[in-house]
Amino acid sequence: MKFGAAVLRAHGDPFTIEEVMLAEGPAEDEILVRIAGCGMCRTDLAVRRSGGRSPLPAVLGHEGAGVVAETGGPGTGFTPGDHVVLSFDSCGQCRSCRSAAPAYCDSFASLNLFGGRGGNAARFTDTAGAALAPRWFGQSSFAEYAMVPARNAVRVDPALPLELLGPLGCGFLTGAGAVFHSFRIGPGDTLAVFGAGAVGLAAVMAAHAAGAVTVAVDRHPGRLALAERLHALPLPAAPAGLPDRIRRLTGGGVMYALDTTGSPALINDALRSLNPTGHLGLVARLHTALPLEPGTLDRGRRISHICEGDAVPALLIPRLTALWQAGLFPFDQLIRTYPLAGINEAERDCETGRVVKPVLIPGGRER
Ligand SMILES: [Zn+2]
Ligand SMILES: [Zn+2]
Repeated sequence: MKFGAAVLRAHGDPFTIEEVMLAEGPAEDEILVRIAGCGMCRTDLAVRRSGGRSPLPAVLGHEGAGVVAETGGPGTGFTPGDHVVLSFDSCGQCRSCRSAAPAYCDSFASLNLFGGRGGNAARFTDTAGAALAPRWFGQSSFAEYAMVPARNAVRVDPALPLELLGPLGCGFLTGAGAVFHSFRIGPGDTLAVFGAGAVGLAAVMAAHAAGAVTVAVDRHPGRLALAERLHALPLPAAPAGLPDRIRRLTGGGVMYALDTTGSPALINDALRSLNPTGHLGLVARLHTALPLEPGTLDRGRRISHICEGDAVPALLIPRLTALWQAGLFPFDQLIRTYPLAGINEAERDCETGRVVKPVLIPGGRER
Protein backbone atom coordinates (compact mmCIF):
# COMPACT_ATOMS: atom_id res chain seq x y z
CA MET A 1 0.00 0.00 0.00
CA LYS A 2 1.00 3.62 -0.62
CA PHE A 3 0.52 6.49 1.80
CA GLY A 4 1.93 9.87 2.72
CA ALA A 5 4.75 10.27 5.23
CA ALA A 6 7.35 12.80 6.39
CA VAL A 7 10.77 11.44 5.38
CA LEU A 8 14.12 12.56 6.79
CA ARG A 9 16.71 11.82 4.08
CA ALA A 10 19.86 13.36 5.57
CA HIS A 11 20.78 14.58 9.04
CA GLY A 12 20.83 18.25 8.03
CA ASP A 13 17.86 18.26 5.64
CA PRO A 14 14.31 19.42 6.30
CA PHE A 15 11.64 16.71 6.35
CA THR A 16 10.00 16.07 2.98
CA ILE A 17 6.43 14.87 2.52
CA GLU A 18 6.52 11.86 0.21
CA GLU A 19 4.54 8.80 -0.80
CA VAL A 20 5.97 5.67 0.81
CA MET A 21 5.15 2.01 0.35
CA LEU A 22 4.60 -1.01 2.57
CA ALA A 23 5.08 -4.18 0.53
CA GLU A 24 3.09 -6.57 2.72
CA GLY A 25 0.19 -6.58 5.16
CA PRO A 26 0.63 -7.19 8.88
CA ALA A 27 2.49 -10.28 10.12
CA GLU A 28 0.66 -12.36 12.73
CA ASP A 29 1.97 -10.23 15.63
CA GLU A 30 1.44 -6.85 13.92
CA ILE A 31 -1.31 -4.32 13.37
CA LEU A 32 -1.67 -1.61 10.74
CA VAL A 33 -2.74 1.67 12.32
CA ARG A 34 -4.20 4.71 10.55
CA ILE A 35 -2.47 7.54 12.40
CA ALA A 36 -4.78 10.23 13.82
CA GLY A 37 -1.96 12.25 15.39
CA CYS A 38 1.70 11.91 16.32
CA GLY A 39 3.63 13.95 18.87
CA MET A 40 7.10 15.28 18.18
CA CYS A 41 9.61 14.23 20.84
CA ARG A 42 13.16 15.45 21.45
CA THR A 43 14.41 11.98 20.56
CA ASP A 44 13.06 12.41 17.02
CA LEU A 45 15.09 15.59 16.60
CA ALA A 46 18.17 14.04 18.24
CA VAL A 47 18.52 11.83 15.14
CA ARG A 48 20.04 14.88 13.46
CA ARG A 49 22.88 14.70 15.99
CA SER A 50 23.13 10.91 16.22
CA GLY A 51 26.37 10.81 14.24
CA GLY A 52 24.83 8.49 11.68
CA ARG A 53 23.94 5.74 14.15
CA SER A 54 20.21 5.98 13.41
CA PRO A 55 19.80 4.85 9.80
CA LEU A 56 18.42 7.24 7.15
CA PRO A 57 16.35 7.81 5.12
CA ALA A 58 13.72 7.20 7.75
CA VAL A 59 10.18 8.01 8.76
CA LEU A 60 10.50 9.17 12.36
CA GLY A 61 7.69 9.78 14.87
CA HIS A 62 7.13 7.60 17.92
CA GLU A 63 4.19 9.18 19.73
CA GLY A 64 1.48 7.92 17.41
CA ALA A 65 -2.18 7.33 18.14
CA GLY A 66 -4.75 6.08 15.68
CA VAL A 67 -7.31 3.54 14.59
CA VAL A 68 -6.51 -0.11 13.88
CA ALA A 69 -7.06 -0.61 10.14
CA GLU A 70 -5.93 -4.22 9.80
CA THR A 71 -4.54 -6.93 12.08
CA GLY A 72 -2.33 -9.96 11.53
CA GLY A 73 -4.94 -12.11 13.26
CA PRO A 74 -6.76 -12.76 16.53
CA GLY A 75 -3.46 -13.33 18.37
CA THR A 76 -2.84 -9.57 18.25
CA GLY A 77 -5.74 -8.96 20.64
CA PHE A 78 -7.02 -6.12 18.43
CA THR A 79 -9.79 -5.73 15.90
CA PRO A 80 -10.13 -3.14 13.14
CA GLY A 81 -11.70 0.03 14.50
CA ASP A 82 -9.98 -0.15 17.89
CA HIS A 83 -8.48 3.15 19.05
CA VAL A 84 -4.86 2.74 20.14
CA VAL A 85 -1.94 4.70 21.56
CA LEU A 86 1.47 3.44 20.39
CA SER A 87 4.48 3.21 22.66
CA PHE A 88 8.10 2.09 22.42
CA ASP A 89 9.22 -1.35 21.22
CA SER A 90 10.63 -4.11 23.42
CA CYS A 91 11.46 -7.77 22.84
CA GLY A 92 9.17 -9.34 25.45
CA GLN A 93 11.69 -12.12 26.11
CA CYS A 94 14.67 -10.71 28.02
CA ARG A 95 15.07 -10.48 31.78
CA SER A 96 13.91 -6.83 31.93
CA CYS A 97 10.86 -7.45 29.76
CA ARG A 98 9.92 -10.45 31.92
CA SER A 99 10.37 -8.25 35.02
CA ALA A 100 7.79 -5.73 33.73
CA ALA A 101 10.58 -3.24 32.92
CA PRO A 102 10.34 -3.08 29.10
CA ALA A 103 12.13 0.31 28.93
CA TYR A 104 15.28 -1.53 30.03
CA CYS A 105 14.88 -4.24 27.37
CA ASP A 106 18.22 -5.70 26.25
CA SER A 107 17.23 -4.78 22.70
CA PHE A 108 15.85 -1.29 23.46
CA ALA A 109 18.46 0.62 21.44
CA SER A 110 18.44 -1.71 18.44
CA LEU A 111 14.63 -1.97 18.32
CA ASN A 112 13.85 1.69 18.87
CA LEU A 113 16.79 3.81 17.74
CA PHE A 114 18.89 1.86 15.28
CA GLY A 115 16.53 0.46 12.71
CA GLY A 116 14.16 -1.94 14.38
CA ARG A 117 13.50 -5.55 13.58
CA GLY A 118 15.69 -6.70 10.71
CA GLY A 119 12.97 -8.94 9.30
CA ASN A 120 11.06 -5.87 8.15
CA ALA A 121 13.97 -4.30 6.32
CA ALA A 122 12.79 -4.93 2.77
CA ARG A 123 9.17 -4.00 3.31
CA PHE A 124 9.25 -0.24 3.82
CA THR A 125 10.38 1.73 0.77
CA ASP A 126 9.92 4.98 -1.07
CA THR A 127 8.02 4.96 -4.35
CA ALA A 128 11.28 4.44 -6.28
CA GLY A 129 11.72 1.17 -4.36
CA ALA A 130 14.65 2.36 -2.24
CA ALA A 131 14.61 1.02 1.32
CA LEU A 132 13.63 3.24 4.23
CA ALA A 133 14.84 2.49 7.76
CA PRO A 134 12.45 -0.29 8.81
CA ARG A 135 10.77 1.10 11.89
CA TRP A 136 11.59 3.93 14.31
CA PHE A 137 10.61 3.06 17.91
CA GLY A 138 8.49 0.24 16.50
CA GLN A 139 6.32 2.85 14.77
CA SER A 140 7.49 5.47 12.24
CA SER A 141 4.32 7.46 12.89
CA PHE A 142 5.00 10.75 11.07
CA ALA A 143 2.82 9.18 8.42
CA GLU A 144 -0.75 8.37 7.47
CA TYR A 145 -0.22 4.73 8.50
CA ALA A 146 2.17 2.77 10.70
CA MET A 147 2.79 -0.98 10.88
CA VAL A 148 3.51 -1.78 14.51
CA PRO A 149 4.04 -4.79 16.77
CA ALA A 150 0.73 -5.39 18.58
CA ARG A 151 2.78 -5.60 21.78
CA ASN A 152 3.41 -1.84 21.64
CA ALA A 153 -0.20 -0.74 21.16
CA VAL A 154 -2.55 0.15 24.01
CA ARG A 155 -6.31 0.24 23.46
CA VAL A 156 -8.03 3.43 24.64
CA ASP A 157 -11.60 4.66 25.09
CA PRO A 158 -13.02 5.85 21.72
CA ALA A 159 -14.59 8.83 23.54
CA LEU A 160 -11.11 10.32 24.10
CA PRO A 161 -9.59 12.91 21.66
CA LEU A 162 -7.54 10.31 19.79
CA GLU A 163 -5.44 12.72 17.72
CA LEU A 164 -3.96 14.24 20.91
CA LEU A 165 -3.16 11.01 22.79
CA GLY A 166 0.11 9.97 21.09
CA PRO A 167 2.46 11.77 23.52
CA LEU A 168 1.03 9.57 26.29
CA GLY A 169 3.17 6.85 24.68
CA CYS A 170 6.53 8.56 25.32
CA GLY A 171 7.03 12.14 26.54
CA PHE A 172 4.11 12.43 28.94
CA LEU A 173 4.56 8.77 29.96
CA THR A 174 8.16 9.54 30.91
CA GLY A 175 7.39 12.49 33.20
CA ALA A 176 4.32 10.95 34.81
CA GLY A 177 5.97 7.54 35.15
CA ALA A 178 8.96 9.07 36.95
CA VAL A 179 6.54 10.53 39.52
CA PHE A 180 4.24 7.52 39.92
CA HIS A 181 6.66 4.62 39.39
CA SER A 182 10.27 5.72 39.91
CA PHE A 183 9.60 8.05 42.87
CA ARG A 184 6.20 6.71 44.04
CA ILE A 185 5.29 10.26 45.03
CA GLY A 186 2.31 10.73 47.32
CA PRO A 187 0.47 13.44 49.26
CA GLY A 188 2.76 15.91 50.98
CA ASP A 189 5.89 14.89 49.07
CA THR A 190 8.14 17.52 47.50
CA LEU A 191 9.58 17.50 43.98
CA ALA A 192 11.83 19.84 42.02
CA VAL A 193 11.66 19.58 38.22
CA PHE A 194 14.56 20.96 36.19
CA GLY A 195 13.38 21.87 32.70
CA ALA A 196 9.68 22.61 32.10
CA GLY A 197 9.33 20.94 28.72
CA ALA A 198 6.96 18.10 27.85
CA VAL A 199 8.56 15.59 30.23
CA GLY A 200 9.03 18.09 33.07
CA LEU A 201 5.50 19.47 32.83
CA ALA A 202 4.04 15.95 32.72
CA ALA A 203 5.90 15.35 36.00
CA VAL A 204 4.44 18.61 37.37
CA MET A 205 0.89 17.51 36.49
CA ALA A 206 1.37 14.01 37.88
CA ALA A 207 2.89 15.32 41.12
CA HIS A 208 0.00 17.72 41.57
CA ALA A 209 -2.47 14.89 40.92
CA ALA A 210 -0.64 12.89 43.60
CA GLY A 211 -0.91 15.73 46.13
CA ALA A 212 2.74 16.76 46.13
CA VAL A 213 4.32 20.23 46.15
CA THR A 214 6.43 20.89 43.05
CA VAL A 215 9.00 23.51 42.12
CA ALA A 216 9.60 23.95 38.39
CA VAL A 217 12.92 25.44 37.22
CA ASP A 218 13.37 26.80 33.69
CA ARG A 219 14.94 29.66 31.73
CA HIS A 220 11.83 30.47 29.65
CA PRO A 221 9.28 32.80 31.32
CA GLY A 222 6.52 31.32 29.13
CA ARG A 223 7.21 27.80 30.34
CA LEU A 224 7.37 28.95 33.95
CA ALA A 225 3.97 30.61 33.52
CA LEU A 226 2.62 27.34 32.14
CA ALA A 227 4.15 25.39 35.05
CA GLU A 228 2.52 27.81 37.47
CA ARG A 229 -0.85 27.31 35.78
CA LEU A 230 -0.33 23.60 36.37
CA HIS A 231 0.16 24.32 40.10
CA ALA A 232 3.96 24.28 40.34
CA LEU A 233 5.97 26.95 42.14
CA PRO A 234 7.87 28.65 39.26
CA LEU A 235 11.57 29.34 39.73
CA PRO A 236 13.78 31.05 37.09
CA ALA A 237 17.03 29.12 36.50
CA ALA A 238 19.06 32.32 36.92
CA PRO A 239 20.50 33.99 38.96
CA ALA A 240 22.73 31.60 40.91
CA GLY A 241 21.87 30.04 44.23
CA LEU A 242 19.17 27.65 42.99
CA PRO A 243 19.52 25.13 45.86
CA ASP A 244 19.02 27.88 48.46
CA ARG A 245 16.03 29.27 46.59
CA ILE A 246 14.49 25.79 46.33
CA ARG A 247 15.05 25.16 50.04
CA ARG A 248 13.37 28.47 50.89
CA LEU A 249 10.36 27.64 48.69
CA THR A 250 9.91 24.16 50.12
CA GLY A 251 10.69 24.66 53.79
CA GLY A 252 14.10 23.02 53.69
CA GLY A 253 14.53 21.02 50.49
CA VAL A 254 12.85 18.38 48.32
CA MET A 255 12.63 14.60 48.58
CA TYR A 256 12.72 14.12 44.81
CA ALA A 257 14.23 15.90 41.83
CA LEU A 258 13.84 15.22 38.13
CA ASP A 259 16.39 16.56 35.66
CA THR A 260 15.29 16.79 32.03
CA THR A 261 18.14 19.06 30.92
CA GLY A 262 21.30 16.91 31.03
CA SER A 263 23.19 19.97 32.30
CA PRO A 264 25.95 18.98 34.79
CA ALA A 265 25.59 22.34 36.62
CA LEU A 266 21.84 21.87 37.09
CA ILE A 267 22.30 18.21 38.09
CA ASN A 268 24.66 19.33 40.87
CA ASP A 269 22.13 21.99 41.90
CA ALA A 270 19.40 19.34 41.91
CA LEU A 271 21.43 17.12 44.26
CA ARG A 272 22.12 20.07 46.57
CA SER A 273 18.38 20.74 46.71
CA LEU A 274 17.60 17.25 47.99
CA ASN A 275 16.84 16.34 51.57
CA PRO A 276 18.88 13.50 53.11
CA THR A 277 17.95 10.17 51.39
CA GLY A 278 16.43 12.16 48.53
CA HIS A 279 16.36 10.75 45.00
CA LEU A 280 17.38 12.50 41.77
CA GLY A 281 16.19 10.99 38.48
CA LEU A 282 17.86 11.78 35.15
CA VAL A 283 15.90 11.44 31.93
CA ALA A 284 18.06 13.36 29.43
CA ARG A 285 20.97 11.81 27.59
CA LEU A 286 24.30 13.13 28.89
CA HIS A 287 26.66 14.39 26.22
CA THR A 288 29.61 15.03 28.53
CA ALA A 289 31.10 13.44 31.65
CA LEU A 290 29.15 14.33 34.78
CA PRO A 291 31.40 15.79 37.49
CA LEU A 292 29.71 15.68 40.90
CA GLU A 293 30.74 18.31 43.42
CA PRO A 294 32.02 16.95 46.76
CA GLY A 295 29.21 16.34 49.20
CA THR A 296 26.37 16.29 46.71
CA LEU A 297 25.72 12.56 47.24
CA ASP A 298 26.27 12.62 51.02
CA ARG A 299 23.61 11.66 53.55
CA GLY A 300 22.02 8.87 51.56
CA ARG A 301 21.15 10.90 48.49
CA ARG A 302 20.94 8.87 45.32
CA ILE A 303 20.85 9.38 41.61
CA SER A 304 19.45 7.10 38.93
CA HIS A 305 18.69 7.13 35.24
CA ILE A 306 15.00 6.77 34.33
CA CYS A 307 13.95 5.50 30.91
CA GLU A 308 10.33 5.89 29.72
CA GLY A 309 9.25 6.61 33.31
CA ASP A 310 9.88 2.98 34.37
CA ALA A 311 6.43 2.44 32.88
CA VAL A 312 4.56 -0.52 31.49
CA PRO A 313 2.65 1.48 28.86
CA ALA A 314 -0.41 -0.78 28.91
CA LEU A 315 -0.81 -0.01 32.63
CA LEU A 316 0.18 3.66 32.81
CA ILE A 317 -1.53 5.03 29.67
CA PRO A 318 -5.05 4.09 30.90
CA ARG A 319 -4.25 5.70 34.26
CA LEU A 320 -3.22 8.91 32.50
CA THR A 321 -6.34 9.05 30.34
CA ALA A 322 -8.47 8.45 33.47
CA LEU A 323 -6.66 11.32 35.22
CA TRP A 324 -7.26 13.54 32.16
CA GLN A 325 -10.97 12.69 32.24
CA ALA A 326 -11.00 13.67 35.93
CA GLY A 327 -9.37 17.03 35.09
CA LEU A 328 -6.16 16.08 36.89
CA PHE A 329 -3.76 15.60 33.98
CA PRO A 330 -4.56 18.38 31.46
CA PHE A 331 -1.88 17.39 28.95
CA ASP A 332 -3.88 18.90 26.07
CA GLN A 333 -2.81 22.34 27.37
CA LEU A 334 0.77 21.55 26.31
CA ILE A 335 -0.14 20.63 22.73
CA ARG A 336 -0.26 22.60 19.52
CA THR A 337 -1.37 20.73 16.40
CA TYR A 338 0.06 21.03 12.90
CA PRO A 339 -0.82 19.30 9.64
CA LEU A 340 1.82 16.68 8.75
CA ALA A 341 3.05 19.02 6.00
CA GLY A 342 3.84 21.57 8.75
CA ILE A 343 6.45 19.27 10.31
CA ASN A 344 9.39 21.61 9.66
CA GLU A 345 7.56 24.50 11.31
CA ALA A 346 6.71 22.17 14.21
CA GLU A 347 10.39 21.30 14.58
CA ARG A 348 11.36 25.00 14.65
CA ASP A 349 8.72 25.74 17.29
CA CYS A 350 9.90 22.77 19.35
CA GLU A 351 13.58 23.78 19.13
CA THR A 352 12.91 27.42 20.09
CA GLY A 353 10.72 26.33 23.00
CA ARG A 354 7.72 28.22 21.59
CA VAL A 355 5.60 25.05 21.71
CA VAL A 356 5.96 22.40 24.39
CA LYS A 357 4.48 19.50 22.44
CA PRO A 358 3.78 19.72 18.71
CA VAL A 359 1.36 17.07 17.45
CA LEU A 360 1.23 16.35 13.72
CA ILE A 361 -2.11 15.49 12.18
CA PRO A 362 -1.77 13.49 8.94
CA GLY A 363 -5.37 14.27 8.01
CA GLY A 364 -4.42 17.95 7.99
CA ARG A 365 -6.98 19.15 10.51
CA GLU A 366 -5.74 21.91 12.78
CA ARG A 367 -6.94 22.82 16.23
ZN1 LIG B 1 13.37 -7.27 26.19
ZN1 LIG C 1 10.16 10.11 22.91
